[in-house]
Amino acid sequence: MPESSVQPVLPPRTGKILLSLAVPFYNEEEVIPLFFKEVIGALEVIPHLEFEIVCVNDGSRDQTLAHLVWHASLDSRVRVVDLTRNFGKEAALSAAIDESRGDVVVPFDADLQDPPQVIKILVEKWREGYDVVLARRNNRDSDSVLKRWTALVFYRLHNKLSEVKIPENVGDFRLMSRQVVSSLKCLPETRRFMKGLFAWVGYKTTVVDYTREVRAAGTTKFSGWKLWNFALEGFTSFSTLPLRVWTYAGSLIAVLSICHALWLTIRTLIFGVDLPGYASVATAVLFLGGIQLIGIGVLGEYVGRIYFESKKRPVYLINRGEQNP
Ligand code: UDP
Ligand code: MG
Repeated sequence: MPESSVQPVLPPRTGKILLSLAVPFYNEEEVIPLFFKEVIGALEVIPHLEFEIVCVNDGSRDQTLAHLVWHASLDSRVRVVDLTRNFGKEAALSAAIDESRGDVVVPFDADLQDPPQVIKILVEKWREGYDVVLARRNNRDSDSVLKRWTALVFYRLHNKLSEVKIPENVGDFRLMSRQVVSSLKCLPETRRFMKGLFAWVGYKTTVVDYTREVRAAGTTKFSGWKLWNFALEGFTSFSTLPLRVWTYAGSLIAVLSICHALWLTIRTLIFGVDLPGYASVATAVLFLGGIQLIGIGVLGEYVGRIYFESKKRPVYLINRGEQNP
């Protein structure tokens, strides 16, 4: 009997579940009181749901850790994971997801840019049978014009270059089932571009639209330079096209120079030798030098990645204190 290509309708997931909110914190002391008030308020109203808030302190230099520990002492649903230094958002988020125990896991930013009320809708969608529920911003009004524009260029370019398509206007805020999280934990790379990894694992996915707010307090941790490096990380993690393109660029230039050489020979045979200008030679040499350097630079990006991956260092280290080494 031929196998049916139609996916079976999954039974709706009823019953009590545990949701883990995975939150990285880096110098967020100003926003913490509001964070717990808003988030706990929004999670408590979701029916048939228990929750834990996994707070990862990513080497903050302010009082973030003390605030988190204090909240954890008041509420057993709050757990604190302290990293040994600032490992960056991607690593901190990995730590939060790894430490989560829930049936479903929701990565969440500490700054309340993503309204916690949306989590209820994500859970409802999961109950309908989806494994991944993406939260998509329906506008980027809270971002600057430059950030909006560069984000657009990044997504378009990334999705052209890479086989793994990252959905536009979707950040880390989403809901993932335990199955998806287990798959994510199997991916061994140490340089983790989470948006790409999330997309790579696949699974039955749906989208919920929401409006992104401005930061509730504090300032963004991502400067233009950090974002640029983040974008490079994205390209080089999920595509080798930047490497391969040099074969074509080199071939094209070689063909063009053969044509040019033929043309010079014919011209010399017909018109004799004239005194060639040095400007055209210098331009050609400099242009080719530039192209070669770009090629080497791109190669360097990938060799650098291989270098880091080959060390097989852990993505992050947790400071477990003296009782629990
Ligand atoms: N973050 C982190 N480590 C870092 C930088 C940021 O854990 O090195 C956290 C930060 O505390 C916040 C989240 O990542 O919870 C998103 O950061 P931010 O809001 O500054 O980014 P933006 O929304 O401006 O892109
Ligand atoms: Mg933010």
